[in-house]
This record gives sequence, C-alpha cells and structure tokens, in this order.
Amino acid sequence: MDVPFFPPDLFEDDRKVMLDLIGEIGRAPEQKFILGERTKEFEELLRESLGAADVVACGSATAALGLVLRAVGVGAGDEVVVPAFGCAPLASSVLEAGATPVFADIDPHRLVVDPEDVERRITARTKAIMPAHMFSIMADMPRFAALAEQRGLRLVEDSAVAQGAELRGVPAGLWGEAGVFSFVQVKSFGMPGEGGAVVTRDPEIGARVRMLRNHGQGAQRFVHEVVGRNSRFDEIQAAFQIHRFPGFAARLERRAAIADFYTRRFAPLADRGVVAPPPGREGRCYYVYCVLADDRDGLRDHLAARGIASHVYYPQPLPRQAAFAPCAPADGRWPHAELASRRILALPIYPHLTDAEVERVADAVCAFAERAPQ
Ligand SMILES: *Cc1c(COP(=O)(O)O)cnc(C)c1O
Repeated sequence: MDVPFFPPDLFEDDRKVMLDLIGEIGRAPEQKFILGERTKEFEELLRESLGAADVVACGSATAALGLVLRAVGVGAGDEVVVPAFGCAPLASSVLEAGATPVFADIDPHRLVVDPEDVERRITARTKAIMPAHMFSIMADMPRFAALAEQRGLRLVEDSAVAQGAELRGVPAGLWGEAGVFSFVQVKSFGMPGEGGAVVTRDPEIGARVRMLRNHGQGAQRFVHEVVGRNSRFDEIQAAFQIHRFPGFAARLERRAAIADFYTRRFAPLADRGVVAPPPGREGRCYYVYCVLADDRDGLRDHLAARGIASHVYYPQPLPRQAAFAPCAPADGRWPHAELASRRILALPIYPHLTDAEVERVADAVCAFAERAPQ
C-alpha cells in the first residue's frame, strides 16, 4: 500500500529525543523508571491544560477504565450501560470489575450510543452509564450528564480517543465524573508504547485511582489499604510525551483539516451509497475518519487496488462477539450497531499525510461512488 492506514514513520521526527531520554533516564543516579518526577510532571501538564482536579497516568486506557469503575464503586451485582458498538474494553472493564455490561444501541449516523436507548435499558441494578466517544464524534454528554443526575447513576466517560476535543467548551474527559485517555501509538496523542490516564474533576476519585494503580498502597509503601493492581506509568514515555505535548494541538488541527476536506468532497455521495460523518468541529476529535458505505467491501477492494489501505472497526457489535455474547440477552437486538458493522470503513487521516495523498484518497472514494449503480 502506498497510502498505509497508519504511517510507518510515526515518531521519526523525535527519534533523537527518544534516544537521548533513554540515555539520560537510563544512566540517572536515582534509577527511577516508573512513577517518578517525569510522570508527575506529565500528569500536572495535562491537569493544568484541562483544568481537571486530577490526572493519574496508568498502564493503558483499558486499565484506566477498570480503575475508574472500581473508584466509583462499581462491583459485583451491578449493571453498567455501555455502547453495543465499540471496542472490547467497554465490556471487558465492566466484567473485570465484577459487574455486567448492558449494551445499548447507537445513533445510526453519528455512531455514538443513543441516549434514549441507554435510558430504556436502565434497571434497578444499574449503577453507572459509560458512553464512549467514537472515531471522530463525541457522545451526547449533556444528555448523559442530565440522565445520570436524574436517575442517580455514576457517569464514566470513555474519552480514550477524544483527547483535545471539546463540547460546549468542556473538554472530553471532564463531562463524566471521570474520563480516560489512551496514549497507545495510533491514538491522537499516541506514543511508542502502552499507556493511558484517568482524568477527573473529583479529587477523591483521583486519590482512589492513584492508590488502585499501585497495588492499593497509600502514602506509605508496602502498606496496602485496598486490593489494587499494577498499572503504572513509564518515566521515559512521560518525558517523551512532555516533549511532544506542545505539537499536539497542531497535529489535531491537521487531522481536523483532513476530515473537513473529506467531508466536503463526500457530501454529494450521500445518495450514491457513501455517507460521510456530519460536518463541523464542535464535539469532534478526528482520531479515525469513517464513512458508511452500502457496498463496504467493494469500496475497500477498490481503495486497495489503488494502493490505499482502509480498516474495518468494528466488524461485529460487542454483544455479537463470542467473548461478550454470553453476558448479553439471547434475543437482544441492536439494529443500528449491526448495520454500522456491515457498512463502516475507516480511511487514513494521520497528520503526516500530504495534501496530494489526501486528495488521492478522496478522489478514489468519489470515483467508486460515482461508478456504483444508484
Ligand atoms: C483505544 C481505546 C481504548 C483502550 O485504550 P488502550 O490504551 O489501548 O487500552 C478504550 N476505549 C476506546 C474507545 C478506544 O478507542
């Protein structure tokens, strides 16, 4: 593929910085490789830029979701309403906390979980709702915040893909009682390795997560106040992320500009079987750009024949996956999630695509739709 789905040279510009950091941290007299001064500085940088009460860096966004669920008191016997269309951690983090995920259907165009279906699936056992921002679109957090308040539920925000996005002036991650970010390499603020963070406007949740991520230890080492886990953050990665943070806004802006261009080019294709996401910048994140195509596999092959890679996330709704079907009702229906999993196709959108490559992708999609029978 000459337009790969993910760039092969993601961190090339910062290669020397990384090598210098390995040397510096590797040779430092304190030999501190996790949860040191750099992790603290990185957490503080994010906390300050968001206006959060606390940011706690941990092993991954998946782990972060699990820590947050435990910190807000989700446990055995509880239900958590999650999207039926999304990534595995939405369900597995709930199961790991000892609770049951309850799958709600999505909005057919925006692909984020539908507040009305979430409300229908609330029972006496529901403890929390956990909407997720998907691909390039933030979930309807004002509705979920109101719903959680009204029904006395905890609100956890899977903002793993939405770092840097804002809705009504509130950053993604701060709509819920707590949210998460992922720094796995392909995410918007990715790094060469595994890592994530919990962000929260509640200092008590922050303190509980801090304890849980490090074996349940409080201020005193080897004194375990609760059963925690090991989900700590790497000092070299923290220093690398501190270095990369000033360039993050420009990289996000480049992603948004590419998305604007695609959406403009694809607007006339809607009645020719290829539907772009809604236009606009409000509540948008541009981690992944997805179209919905009647002949998704045909579009995928057409792009591949022209050297353009694309990607299907997600080929099945969560409650249809072998791993999670046993905890979903056998007669359950999630028609919009099922339709999306047959129609969705993600196009390359990373910041170092050239304008010529972006045009090539757009031209190829347009050529496919214009050729396809109406
Ligand atoms: C990537 C992702 C996660 C998990 O992030 P990791 O850091 O890879 O564990 C969780 N939720 C969503 C919506 C994601 O896209």
